[in-house]
Amino acid sequence: MRKGAQAMIHYEEPLYRPPSEARSLIFQATIGCSTNTCAFCVAYQGKSFKVRPEAELFAEIDWAATHHAGVRRVFLADGDALVLSTRRLLRILARLYSRLSHLERVTVYGSPQNLQKKSIDELRTLREAGLTMIYYGIESGDDEVLQRVHKNATAREIADAGAKPQQAGIDLSATVILGLGGPRLSDRHAQATAAVINEIAPRYASALTLMLAPRSPSFEAVYGDETWRPLTPVEALAECRVLIDHIVADAITFRSNHASNYLALAGDLQRDKNRLLEEIDAALGDPTGSRLRPDFLRGL
Ligand code: SF4
Repeated sequence: MRKGAQAMIHYEEPLYRPPSEARSLIFQATIGCSTNTCAFCVAYQGKSFKVRPEAELFAEIDWAATHHAGVRRVFLADGDALVLSTRRLLRILARLYSRLSHLERVTVYGSPQNLQKKSIDELRTLREAGLTMIYYGIESGDDEVLQRVHKNATAREIADAGAKPQQAGIDLSATVILGLGGPRLSDRHAQATAAVINEIAPRYASALTLMLAPRSPSFEAVYGDETWRPLTPVEALAECRVLIDHIVADAITFRSNHASNYLALAGDLQRDKNRLLEEIDAALGDPTGSRLRPDFLRGL
């Protein structure tokens, strides 16, 4: 979808989207990330945050109405388009749904900071206007980890903000990052992250495994703990086990099938919990390690 649209939709690269938005038409409502401080993230290091002029965006939507009239899904990029004012988002949603007559869903990345500024009534209005899902980075539920990676939000703030969309009828797709706390904080990170997931009970939860790309300053420099190191594949999987084991909230579709992970898992919690744990135990108990994705096949 994206390549065909390039002629008349201007993309300021690099362009990122959640894996599940592979079939969506992407519009950049904003450029970059409004906070851009997370030590593990290189996505928008080369971009200064800005809001796309509405006239430009609307011209692209109007063009898509002619050239991609059948589009059913739209993702609003970049890193946290939910930072836009509710009034502006409502204008964008109105334009999308009025021009794209087959449109069924519009999704967006949103941060705790974005959600703190939106009331449940505002989110409900956005849902009624067609915002169907928010992708939300929990990353960790441990305050030391969050502070060290410069997430700029506490676990309490992440849980409170993350609970709002679903109260307004908007699905939440939450991600957490295995390995963020290194070996020293592995258990604490996994248990505290499960506690935040339990509070939010997102419709979807996925685990990524930390992969560090070159950045400046480096992750290690920002993290500031000499004992920190990346987890081994076995340690990362063991951390994933603690995470899943401690999730008790129900009706969560859990995935760890992102290419960064050493073992692809998918199931509905709580129904499939035992099977997921058994799959992890089988991989951990396999001395050949052949069930784990080799490092050269991992990717972001
Ligand atoms: S809020 Fe998201 S996009 Fe922005 S720096 Fe953090 S991880 Fe990257």
